[in-house]
Parts: sequence; structure tokens; C-alpha cells
Amino acid sequence: MEYGIAALGTASKTNFQKIERVQNHSLRIMTGGIKSTPINSMESVRGLESLADRRKKKIVCQYTKFQHLANHPMCKLITNNPRKRLKRTNFTASAQQIHKSLELPDLRPDTPLQSSIDWPPWNQQSQIEIVKDIDGVTSKKSMIKRELHCLTQNMLDKKYPSNYWIRAFTDGSASEAHNSKDAIHKLSRAAQVTIFRLRTGHNRLKHHLFSRFKIGDGPNCPCGANRQDAQHVLQDCPLLDDARLKYWPEPREMNQKLYGSAPQLGITAEFICASDLTI
Ligand SMILES: [Zn+2]
Repeated sequence: MEYGIAALGTASKTNFQKIERVQNHSLRIMTGGIKSTPINSMESVRGLESLADRRKKKIVCQYTKFQHLANHPMCKLITNNPRKRLKRTNFTASAQQIHKSLELPDLRPDTPLQSSIDWPPWNQQSQIEIVKDIDGVTSKKSMIKRELHCLTQNMLDKKYPSNYWIRAFTDGSASEAHNSKDAIHKLSRAAQVTIFRLRTGHNRLKHHLFSRFKIGDGPNCPCGANRQDAQHVLQDCPLLDDARLKYWPEPREMNQKLYGSAPQLGITAEFICASDLTI
């Protein structure tokens, strides 16, 4: 999402919101959050930093990079007084503002970075080897295509084994990106969604649907209690006493049911499933 996002450092709020909307929509798909679920809750359960914060980091990083590249045109712009046009926002001004608001130390360059433009790859011809001969190929015209293909493939495999190639795909390290201490990540997706909705209170139980969206005939539980919410369903509702006793022979605290170990959370999800309630 944040690829090249420093370029959006001066984007208007409306334009940036268009990108944020994509992230928030993805978060709703990932967590199973409903329309009213606060973005903060979704970000925290997925361990995801807000896009606005990530943009700030990228801008500051890009700004520092420019400062260190003595020959870069942006370096001159930054070093010369950038506040000639006070009314217009520009990259330098916004970067300096973020720098100041985060109270970051000023990393003025002692030794400028070497730009990669100083060694363009096309000037490194000495390293490029052009292979014209392939072992086993005597005359291209007299051999069939399939044979030529196999011999070339063999040569490539031998000379440039696959572990020489730069791997551009992920090595799986992203799977550790979330907060692994939270047992919710060990559950099945369906169970994760149930637990997440119970935790945030943004679910399809009657209290939330009625108080937030005015959906349904009222916030009351069919048992007569005046508030059908996670607390009532998990702990109090007399209509679910049998199921509750089956899944929790011993009384268990709300905190353990929603934030406990993976097996405990699994039981909560199973209980909700058995109760026939839509979460
Ligand atoms: Zn009830």
C-alpha cells in the first residue's frame, strides 16, 4: 500500500482518503468487522499501523535520503530556503513539519550517500558475459527445436543454479507480522470473526443492531432482558443456560472467554455456533 507513498506527501485530504478507504475495506474483509466496527479496533487486532502514520515515516525517510544525496536536485531545494512561497504546500514543508512534530533528531549528513546513478548498470559491462556456445549444440539448423531447448535448459541449470537467483517473493516472514501473543490468530477464520465481533461489541446482536442502526424491534433479548449483547449472551441469558453448562461446566469469567487461550476462545466460538445466534 505504501509503495511510493511519499509522493502523496502533499496530497489533499480527499485524495488520501481514497487510498485509506482501500486499506479499511481490506481490514473489514480480513477481520470480518461490520460496517460500524471502529478502524482502530481492526488495526489493533491485525497489528497494522494506520496508513497515515506509515506515510509520515516514508516522508521523513525520503526527506533524510534527499538530504544525504548531495547531487540530487531535491537536496538543493531542501538546503536552499524552501519557504519562498508560503501559501503552497510542498514536500519539503510537510516533511519538516512532521520532523518537528515528532521531535526527531536532525540527521544532517556528515558524509553524503553515494547515489546509485554514479554506477549505472550499463557501465558495468565488464561483468556481463555473453554466452554464444552451448555444449552439445553443433549446428542449429540440423537439430530439432525440442533438443535445442533441452540442451539450453541444461546449460542454464548447471551454470546458473536456481539458488543464484534473487528471490523477489516473500519468504513467509509476513506471517509473523501480527501480534502472535493474541490467541485469536490460532483460530479458524470463522471463529476469529466471531471472537472479534464479540470483543468489539460491533456485532449483529439485537442491542447493537437496534441502538446503532435502528434495525429490529428493540434491543431486548427474547428472554426479556433489556439488552442482548455479548455479556448477556455469554454470561447471563437464561435461554442459553443449558448450552452454557455444556460448554463451561465451571463458571468462567468474561475476560477468559474473549481474551483467554486458543482453546478457551474456541469454546466461546463453538458455544455461539450452538446457540444459533447470528453474530
Ligand atoms: Zn436473554
